[in-house]
Parts: sequence; structure tokens; C-alpha cells
Amino acid sequence: SYRKGGYHAVRIGDPFASGRYIAQRKLGWGQFSTVWLAYDTQTSKYVALKIQKSAQQFAQAALHEIEVLCAIADGDPSNSKCTVRLVDHFKHAGPNGQHPCMVLEVLGDSLLQLIRFNRYKGLELDKVREICKCVLIALDYLHRELGIIHTDLKPENILLFSTIDPAKDPIRSGLTPILERPEGGNLNGGSTMNIIEKKLKRRAKRAVANISGRRDSMGGAVVKPARCLDGIDMRCKVVDFGNACWADKRFAEEIQTRQYRAPEVILQSGYSFSVDMWSFACIVFELSTGDMMFAPKTGEGFSEDEDHLALMMELLGKMPRKIAVGGARSKDFFDRHGDLKRIRRLKILPLDRLLVTKYKFSDTDAREFREFVTPLLDFSPEKRPTAQQCLQHPWLNPRSSDGKSKVDAGMSKLKI
Ligand code: ATP
Ligand code: MG
Ligand code: MG
Repeated sequence: SYRKGGYHAVRIGDPFASGRYIAQRKLGWGQFSTVWLAYDTQTSKYVALKIQKSAQQFAQAALHEIEVLCAIADGDPSNSKCTVRLVDHFKHAGPNGQHPCMVLEVLGDSLLQLIRFNRYKGLELDKVREICKCVLIALDYLHRELGIIHTDLKPENILLFSTIDPAKDPIRSGLTPILERPEGGNLNGGSTMNIIEKKLKRRAKRAVANISGRRDSMGGAVVKPARCLDGIDMRCKVVDFGNACWADKRFAEEIQTRQYRAPEVILQSGYSFSVDMWSFACIVFELSTGDMMFAPKTGEGFSEDEDHLALMMELLGKMPRKIAVGGARSKDFFDRHGDLKRIRRLKILPLDRLLVTKYKFSDTDAREFREFVTPLLDFSPEKRPTAQQCLQHPWLNPRSSDGKSKVDAGMSKLKI
């Protein structure tokens, strides 16, 4: 992909925007871009530099993403809506072409990394609740105030961040420097800032080794984030607006990453804001159990789409006939009675039973969890609660014995 029209190859210490930003190390990558930690010489702060591939269609997508990010920043001057902040953008000329670049605030590991580091065991429900609040604040803002549908909500696109400065307290900051990345992200090269980074990383590594006392096979410290993050409010922000659209200007039929895709998208019955609410419910399940809610596979005699619809019905009950037969693609999957054509026998296991039998939830936890999550998975998109309604749900504001809301007590300490 590092060829004409593709990614821009970056070396540590490379300058961008006439020397304002200096590349430090790679933070991540996607289909469209690589994302680098960079030092902003003007403000003496770190930023995340998203460097897009240069070919026409990628450059076009970046312009669209910048437009969405500008709308997000304009509508939220105090940066309190749990969405990533765009601070600058420019074009960078390289051997592979002209690359649109977005300068974003630096965030930490993604929820996917958090789930992995927690060894797919599921997080404490109180942590899940804190994460839910942030994501819902973001969705309520996008949907109700801006009219924007994210369309690609998934754990990878929700990044943790901490109000604690990682340069001062790498352990408690809970950000990337302490969480060893199994996939690499080597530090080599020699700019001054990079040396500072190296020191920071070494210090973090030592401290982490002290906590855990163990190292994994790759030589990285084994970290349980839940332990490092004990007592820290866990906060996160929604990122990756490359596929976002205005509800009145939709362009793609097929949206969302497979496992987080809503049934109306599979059936092509039209979609709106509530597709993000479906994905949100899938994420809540995944955070709480460590497993994906729906992981469809192609089988003998049926497609991935059909398996996906079957998995949904096994967990949520049968899809009402009218909905099943109402989409442009319904005939590919359902007969006229609203039964799947090629998967005839469903193994029904309601969500709360699954939580108790497979994930050892208490009966109460399972029931309360079901009451929060299943309305979001209504097969009728217009019946799903909005983000605003979800924020009011008692599951997010459990009462402790003294009558105070536990989550609110934690959140109110925070200044954003
Ligand atoms: P996709 O293929 O998912 O569309 P993309 O090319 O649009 O990807 P992003 O998803 O925006 O790129 O970013 C890729 C990865 O870079 C993220 O998953 C994350 O790991 C990292 N990343 C993105 N933005 C930031 C940020 N602001 N701070 C820290 N890391 C970031
Ligand atoms: Mg992404
Ligand atoms: Mg993207």
C-alpha cells in the first residue's frame, strides 16, 4: 500500500506542515490512513496526525471527514461531547502524491485493545456503565444536535483517554505508553522528542513490570488495565468519522462493520440514527462479556447474512413478518411467511439466560442488563430508544445503599 496513491511512508522525526509537527511514532492505521503521534512545536503538545492515502477517492473521503469533524468541533466549543477534536488540517506532498492530513487530539487505546488486554473476560459492569455514558453523550450530540449518523460504531473506533497527563504520571494516565502493544509500534530514530518518548516508555515499562511482575512471550509487560485503571474514571471518545453521514444526505447502502450491522441494513429497508443504537448495544454486550454479540459465519448452504439474521432471532426472538419481508433484499433470505429459507431450525436462547449460563451473571444483573440492552435491539428501528432516552435509563444510574447515584458521584469529580 506504500505506493502511488497509497499510504505516505513516515520516518520518526519527519516534519509536517512546514516543520510545525514532528512525527514521533505510529499510533495506528486503518484502510484509509496511518495515524502518528506527532509533537506540535507551536503549542509544545502532542497531537495525532492522521495521514490519508493520496488517491482521488481517499482524498475525497478525507475532505468529507474533515467537513464532519469541523461541524463536530463548531457545535462543541467546550470539547465535552465525547467526540474526537480536530485541531488543524493540511495537505502533505510526498513521493506517493498529495496526502490530506488531519491533526487530532491524542487519545489512548481503543476499547478493542482494552477488551484484549482484559483477556476477553469482560469488564466490571460499573466500568461498562462509565464507557456507555461517554458513548451515549457522543451519540446524542451527533444525532440530535448535528443530524449525523456515525455508521461505523465499534470498539476499534472508541478510544480511551484520561484527564491525567501521561508525561507526568504514565501509570495512572491509563494511556498508550503503559499498555504494551503486542502488534509492535517500535521506537527507533533519534529526534529529541523521540528520546523523551523513549524515556517515558521505558519508565512506564519498568513501573508496569513492577505491578505485574510478569512478562509475556514478546518481552512486553503483561498488564491488566483494570488494575492500572483502578479508581480512575474511565472515559472515552468516538473517532473515525470517515463513514459518517448526515441523515438527510446518505450515500451508502451497505454500512457498518459486519458484527455491528443492524438488520435493516442487511435487509436494505432504509436506515437512520437507530443503526448506531444497534451497534451501541452490540458494544455494551462485548464490553460486559468479552465476546462479540453476533459473529456470523458462512455455512454449508447459507450465507453470512443469513447466519447473522438467524443469530439475531436466536437471541431476540422471531423477527415480525412485516419487517422480515419488507426490505429490498428480503426475498434473498425469507419466505413469504417470514421464515428463513435455508436455516429452518433456530436454537432460541434469550439474552438473560445466556448471561446467566455462559457468563455467570447473577439473575439480577442479567435481568437489569436485558432491560437496558434489548430495547436497543428492537427489529423495528423506530422503536429503539434514542441516545437521549438511554442516558435517562436507571441501568446507567444505579443507586447505592446510601441513595446516591454511584456513577454520577464518580462523573461529577471530572472536569472535561
Ligand atoms: P478505518 O479503516 O477503520 O476507516 P481509518 O483509516 O479511517 O480507519 P481511523 O480509524 O481514524 O483510520 O484511525 C486508525 C487507528 O489509528 C485507530 O483505530 C486508532 O488506533 C488510531 N487513532 C486514530 N485516531 C487517533 C487519535 N486521535 N489518537 C490516538 N490514536 C488514534
Ligand atoms: Mg477506524
Ligand atoms: Mg475510517
